[in-house]
Order: sequence, then structure tokens, then C-alpha cells
Amino acid sequence: MADTIFDKIIRREIPADIVYEDDEVLAFRDLNPQAPVHVLFIPKKAIPTLDDAKPEDAALLGRLLLAIAEYARREGFAEQGYRAVSNCREYGGQTVYHLHVHLLAGRHLKWPPG
Ligand code: IMP
Repeated sequence: MADTIFDKIIRREIPADIVYEDDEVLAFRDLNPQAPVHVLFIPKKAIPTLDDAKPEDAALLGRLLLAIAEYARREGFAEQGYRAVSNCREYGGQTVYHLHVHLLAGRHLKWPPG
């Protein structure tokens, strides 16, 4: 499986502003933030896209989403609201092929996205 920049962040080979970590999940601030809060939540397991996730990854994906909800509550913007979104492959706008969920918060987001 191809190594990505996110694998390098997991291995601490390149710096990142890490805001959350447990045994299976890592979260760090996006380098090019699109909102006042823009954090990427990734599984440490190298799954390239959501389409590559398997039934045995169900608990891991659940942990990823629950980590986002927990972080939003802890940081105090859960009540105001936020967006959690995962881009899949070319038409989804995915650029890094290590599954990740963007957490965007701190401004009133528009829908639909471009
Ligand atoms: P995607 O387009 O959904 O695949 O999202 C990839 C995201 O990773 C983009 O929002 C990038 O700004 C972000 N990104 C790329 N390299 C780094 C990095 O080294 N640190 C933090 N974020 C990064």
C-alpha cells in the first residue's frame, strides 16, 4: 500500500499540530484550513479511501466519528454545530489517499459544497 504524508505524520517523520490521539485514531490541524477550526481525523491503519474500508473496519470507523464528536464537545463548539466530511477519490476531491474525515467548525458553512 502506498505511503502517504499522513503515514509520515503517524510515524512522527514530519511535524503536525496534533490535537488528539488514541491507540487507533490521530487528529491534527489541516495545513490549509478552510474554517476557523479545521482538523483531520485519521485511522492509524492505512485505509486509502472510504471505498476500501471493510466490514471488519466498522468499529474503527465508529471510533473515528465518535472521536470527532467528543473533540467538538470538549472544544466547546458542539452546540453551535460543525461539519464532518470525507472526500472519496477524484470526484470527491480526495488528494491524500489515507482515509480521513475533515472536521470544520467556527463559521456558518454553506451547502452544497462546490
Ligand atoms: P483531501 O483533499 O480530502 O484528501 O484532504 C487532504 C487534506 O490534507 C487537505 O485539506 C490538505 O490541506 C491537508 N494536508 C496535506 N498535507 C498536510 C500536512 O502535512 N499536514 C496537515 N494537513 C495536510
